[in-house]
Amino acid sequence: VKILDEIPQKEFDIIIVGSGFAGSFFLDKLLKLGSNLEILVVERGSYIKHWDRVKNRTITYENSSDYYVNRNPKIKEWGFTLGFGGGSNCWTGNTPRLLPDDFKVKSLYDFGVDWPLEYEELEPYYSEVESIMEIAGSQTPYTMSRAYPLMPHRMSPVDLILKERHPEDFFALPSARATSGGSRAMCCSNGRCSLCPIDAKFTIENGCRYAYKHFNVSIIFDTEVRSLQIENDCVKGINVTRSGRDAKIKGKWVVMAANGLFNPYLLLQSNLEDGIVGRGITEQTGYIIDIQLKDIYNFQGGSIGTGWYTKGLKRNKATKDAAFMFHTENITESLNFNMDNPLGHLRVVMSIEDFRVDTNRVVVNAKEGKPEVYFKEASIHTQQTELKIKQHLSEFLEGFSYHIMNIEKRKTEWHIQCSTPMGKDPDTSVTDKYGFHHRVKHLIVLGSGNFPTAPPSNPSLTISALARFSAEQFFKIEKGDGFK
Ligand SMILES: Cc1cc2nc3c(=O)[nH]c(=O)nc-3n(C[C@H](O)[C@H](O)[C@H](O)COP(=O)(O)OP(=O)(O)OC[C@H]3O[C@@H](n4cnc5c(N)ncnc54)[C@H](O)[C@@H]3O)c2cc1C
Ligand code: SF4
Repeated sequence: VKILDEIPQKEFDIIIVGSGFAGSFFLDKLLKLGSNLEILVVERGSYIKHWDRVKNRTITYENSSDYYVNRNPKIKEWGFTLGFGGGSNCWTGNTPRLLPDDFKVKSLYDFGVDWPLEYEELEPYYSEVESIMEIAGSQTPYTMSRAYPLMPHRMSPVDLILKERHPEDFFALPSARATSGGSRAMCCSNGRCSLCPIDAKFTIENGCRYAYKHFNVSIIFDTEVRSLQIENDCVKGINVTRSGRDAKIKGKWVVMAANGLFNPYLLLQSNLEDGIVGRGITEQTGYIIDIQLKDIYNFQGGSIGTGWYTKGLKRNKATKDAAFMFHTENITESLNFNMDNPLGHLRVVMSIEDFRVDTNRVVVNAKEGKPEVYFKEASIHTQQTELKIKQHLSEFLEGFSYHIMNIEKRKTEWHIQCSTPMGKDPDTSVTDKYGFHHRVKHLIVLGSGNFPTAPPSNPSLTISALARFSAEQFFKIEKGDGFK
């Protein structure tokens, strides 16, 4: 890896801001297309090797709150990881695709908005990412041009009953936690995924490191991008700070991949306020639900999350309730030996979709030099679904004898979305479907900030597929036009 210790003085063809899923999958695709452009990746955090993090027990997302000002901490938090590989270090590795309907909620159900692209356009890129991440999975509610590379994780005894009762709506949860036959160790279901001790889940470090070894790629760590240099509506480079020293780096193209909180912040810092950027920030609303089942011994599933209930992903035009999904967990930490039947415990995670609400927003806190986030409440569609949690649970668990021990709302799902939405109309969106900024030339914005809505499924697979979709478009332009 070409690691730079000093701020480089030369001009790069492309500067990528951030080395998480969005930045690394853009980079990887560009290199696989045969690009010979000189690329610099600027990473705010450090590179701490997996093994060193395990030895030091360093989980990097826990101090997220130091990096932004939270105006509604009682209601909401926003979780992320700064450092090489971004959120791939701490993520759990659940990787469902979005469903075709998720891309056209407005046309089909008359609420929310449509995405500017359809499932079919993204499908080949989903397959590429699933192959690189070595996803374990099998049957799905969406069509796939390529089967998952690894077999699914073993379902728990309760999952197997649920599969029998909901054959069309219950599946093995697709995940980037390895089963046998891949390049990583096999997941052993100990549920410590925010720092997997055996490196069984995909990370940028274990799965995309070859991209960073390419002779045309350099990376500089511990360097924070503070804003963009823009002249005559065209990007010219970035302004950075490193060890208390400010500097400029020139680049012909800039790819912003700093995540759904920092991308809008950096655009606002660069005077690109357009009435949309930063507004509508949200993520799914999540619940942990603990259930006691009678006369059943659960656990024994092959990973932390095993079952996936998809009936709630179908929306209803009449009620306009937000979609939701349940997944079942096997996490032994949730065992409670004070219960009559500790092994009869079932943990269900519920994730409810959300839609942009303008008053939920990211702004610049100039005094502290950080993003400042306001979040009052989720959309009305999400709130409607929240009121029906017990009703949905009773359909899901029909036939079981159970009681609900606890329903806890989570303050973050770690899936920051919708803050730089993509769309066809520059008056209502920040980028086009490829992440190209509508107004500023040679500026690409990537990540889940670009999602126009926040569907229930975990976002990182889609972030990665969209980054490759964008890289291919960039490559076509670069080959056709050359740099101007
Ligand atoms: C505990 C946890 C569990 C999760 N589980 C799942 C899951 O199961 N499935 C799923 O799909 N998603 C999951 N996620 C979410 C996932 O991590 C994010 O969706 C994903 O990381 C976002 O990718 P990204 O590339 O857009 O941003 P990030 O991964 O956040 O990468 C952004 C990068 O930019 C760098 N950066 C930020 N600001 C600057 C700056 N100013 N200058 C230079 N560099 C900068 C950061 O250091 C970081 O490396 C989880 C997250 C957490 C924390
Ligand atoms: S369940 Fe355990 S082995 Fe599997 S990915 Fe998580 S921490 Fe790693």
